[in-house]
Amino acid sequence: MGANSPAAGPPQGEAAPSGGSDPRQRQSVGANSPAAGPPQGEAAPSAGSDPRQRQSVGANSPAAGPPQGEAAPSGGSDPRQRRSVGAIDYRGRFAPSPTGPLHAGSLVAALASWLDAKAQGGTWLVRIEDVDTPRCIPGADQTILQQLAACGLISDEPVVWQSQRSTLYQSALDQLSEGGQVYPCGCSRKDIEAALSAQGVHTERHHAAVYPGTCRPENGGLKGKPARAWRFAVPSLSEVIWQDQQLGEQRQNVATEVGDFVLKRADGLWAYQLAVVVDDAAQGITHVVRGQDLADNTPRQILLQQALALPTPTYRHTPLVLGRDGEKLSKQNQATPLDITQPLQSLNQAAKMLNLPNCSSTVSAALTHWVQAWRCAPRAREGNVQV
Ligand SMILES: [Zn+2]
Repeated sequence: MGANSPAAGPPQGEAAPSGGSDPRQRQSVGANSPAAGPPQGEAAPSAGSDPRQRQSVGANSPAAGPPQGEAAPSGGSDPRQRRSVGAIDYRGRFAPSPTGPLHAGSLVAALASWLDAKAQGGTWLVRIEDVDTPRCIPGADQTILQQLAACGLISDEPVVWQSQRSTLYQSALDQLSEGGQVYPCGCSRKDIEAALSAQGVHTERHHAAVYPGTCRPENGGLKGKPARAWRFAVPSLSEVIWQDQQLGEQRQNVATEVGDFVLKRADGLWAYQLAVVVDDAAQGITHVVRGQDLADNTPRQILLQQALALPTPTYRHTPLVLGRDGEKLSKQNQATPLDITQPLQSLNQAAKMLNLPNCSSTVSAALTHWVQAWRCAPRAREGNVQV
């Protein structure tokens, strides 16, 4: 993330995050960001530890943020005890939201995830991320599956729809509730703005507010207000550091940069963060390959994995396709849908983004060729590319 990351537009090829903290409008901290240095007094990563699964708990880390007085993570969330995943039994996925047909940007993420799986002899799945039902367009899921099929990208196992998996998400929420890691929130957007204003915090327009912790149990809970949403109680000092296969080392202090994020929305819908973590684990996903616009969701997902005692996959965030205006292509800004009568042409455009050679024979031959090329040099070029 960082300078190359467009600030607006929904994610490519994956359901949009929802709830109070809109990550698209937050500053992310990437390896190349000026703000990426470790907090003062924090120990440098020690040799031998797996950075993907380490959670820094430096005593002098910035103490600001909502989770005041919160204890450090403990018990099942000890990252040192968590299982790491390897290249054996690779399971990857492409997880589009059916808010419109695939476009050039989403095909890059689809192709990259497919190639990464196939290059490692793995299994590739498609999951339709349709939890945000008001944003979904009827029939778009079938259109997407037809577009993928035309491009030779076919799920190795039956496609799943998140809208049919509420029971799984409820179980995860119950598990977190039993552990005291979630709490009901009765705040409206105006309540949050007022609480922040009372604390002297003025949120810039177009920047999502860090939830001030008003309804945290230690702050008195709902105080008679009806519960609207359920929030994850982000542990204080929860700087998450992970090694992205594309972007290098990434870090984010979720407590101070995001705050307690929503898992179940005021409208009763499941938030993207919870659904994606539960499904990645339920489907045994070992490798997540997706667009760079989703990179700064990763620390929240890692925290949830730790809270639910689930393994953390390996992450790779692929370059974004930018329109002529420099904005990320998206369904919402009317990006042209992929033309499935010209699948090879569409695939070649996506392959170019991934630094793969042009192939002019057939879809099948091109895919085979790119799997070989990916195996030799899987690292796509840095940065986003304007079309
Ligand atoms: Zn609240």
